[in-house]
Amino acid sequence: MVPEGVIQFEAEHERRALESRRYDELACELIAWREIMALTGLVGQDPSRYGGAGYGNVSVRVGPRGASIGRRSFLVTGSQTSGQRSIGLDDFAVVERYDGAANRVWSHGPALPSSESLTHAAAYDASPIVRCVLHAHSPVLWRRRRALRLPETDPAAANGTPAMASEVSRLYRETVFSERRILALGGHEDGILVIGGTAEEAGGVLLRWLARAYREACGDRDSCAAP
Ligand SMILES: [Zn+2]
Repeated sequence: MVPEGVIQFEAEHERRALESRRYDELACELIAWREIMALTGLVGQDPSRYGGAGYGNVSVRVGPRGASIGRRSFLVTGSQTSGQRSIGLDDFAVVERYDGAANRVWSHGPALPSSESLTHAAAYDASPIVRCVLHAHSPVLWRRRRALRLPETDPAAANGTPAMASEVSRLYRETVFSERRILALGGHEDGILVIGGTAEEAGGVLLRWLARAYREACGDRDSCAAP
C-alpha cells in the first residue's frame, strides 16, 4: 500500500500566490465543506492512523467545462495540509494539467498540490459534469463498503497511480460511480471518493452515505440502545 501523504508523481510546480479575486469564492466553498469533513474526522491527522500522516483532501474544477481530458484544471488542497485544523487560499494549488500515464502534474500556487491529485484528476477526466471531488478517510464507511454495495476500485490499484485512474474511469463508465457519486478506494485503507457538480452536491452525497454507514453499524449491534 502506498503511504498516505507521499507525492507519487513528478510535479512541475511554480510557487506563486493565487489571485484572491479569481479563487476566493471557490476556495471558500471548498473550505466550508472541508471544515465539516474535519469536524466529522474525514480529514485530519492522528498519530494512531496511517503512521501519523495527514489524510483527506478536496478539490474543485476551475476554468471552462469544455476543457479536454488532461487539461481539466482544478483547485486542490496542498500536500501536507490535511492535519491543519483550518486552511486558507495559501494552502491551495491549481493543477493546470496532468498526465496520469506519465505520472506528471503541472501546477502553480503557494502550496504543492495534494499527493492524491492524480486520483482527483481521474474523476474529472471521467466526465465534464464532475466539478468537485472530496477524498475522505472513513473507517465506518470503508469497512461497510460491501454491505452498502459501494463501487470499489481494485485493491491492487494503489492510490494516485495510473492503475487507480483507470479503475475510477471504469467504474464511472459502468455507471455505478456516476449514479451513486461515491466509491471506495479498495487498495487505500479507509479511502472514499465522492463527486458532484458542486461542492455542496458532493458534500451532501458524502454525509448521506456516512449516515447510512452509521445506520448499518447500529444494526450490527445486538441492541440499538446506547451502551
Ligand atoms: Zn487518502
